[in-house]
Amino acid sequence: MQQTIADPRWAAIVERDTAADGTFYYSVQTTGVYCRPSCPARLARPEHVDFYPTPADAERAGFRPCKRCKPDQMGARRRVPAEIRFTFKPSSLGLILVAQSALGVCAVLLGDDHDMLVRDLQQRFPTATLVPADSSLASLVAARIEGSGREDELPLDMQGTAFQRTVWRALREIPRGTTQSYSDIARRIGRPNAVRAVAHACASNPLAVLVPCHRAVRRDGALAGYRWGIERKRALLERELRARS
Ligand SMILES: [Zn+2]
Repeated sequence: MQQTIADPRWAAIVERDTAADGTFYYSVQTTGVYCRPSCPARLARPEHVDFYPTPADAERAGFRPCKRCKPDQMGARRRVPAEIRFTFKPSSLGLILVAQSALGVCAVLLGDDHDMLVRDLQQRFPTATLVPADSSLASLVAARIEGSGREDELPLDMQGTAFQRTVWRALREIPRGTTQSYSDIARRIGRPNAVRAVAHACASNPLAVLVPCHRAVRRDGALAGYRWGIERKRALLERELRARS
């Protein structure tokens, strides 16, 4: 039980963190069901809880899906694109991979290595067919990254849980050239206690720069982490600050 309480997955269950949905499942020994982390049902006792990476693992262990949170229907409820076109652009921040679904830009990833970026894309969209193809949006994205162009001129297809998308929308409201703390953002979306979940959602943002997670910082103003490297975060913020003054 001590072990369960110390497990970050237990914290996600206590917070009913929708950002954790799809990342693991948990069973409750006393009821014989398994749930997703955000299940609204009464909180189980930690000594009755076990964790599984997939619904299939929980079912193999003898548990049935909870009728309230329907953990076996997670995949069906997410609107995941079947085909994603992607292209690369060089930029002052390194290589950019721009990926596009039928609805809009679904990923902007920064890095130094083509293969690593494609692997990252495939991990984020494991069921999608990835097609290398030039995209007219890629040049617009590249321009955005260099600091020109409007924030809202690109159609975005934000693929994430409801909670993640709420956080990402809040990030897009932070004015260029300014920063906000994770706790400010948590308060702003009406979830003041979900600071850690907010930081998590920022870190899992698939749309570098277009969803400006680089403008989210720690409460003491420290830059905290950045999925694409703290140096890129610093460069982006400095550039935005310069453009503002
Ligand atoms: Zn449940």
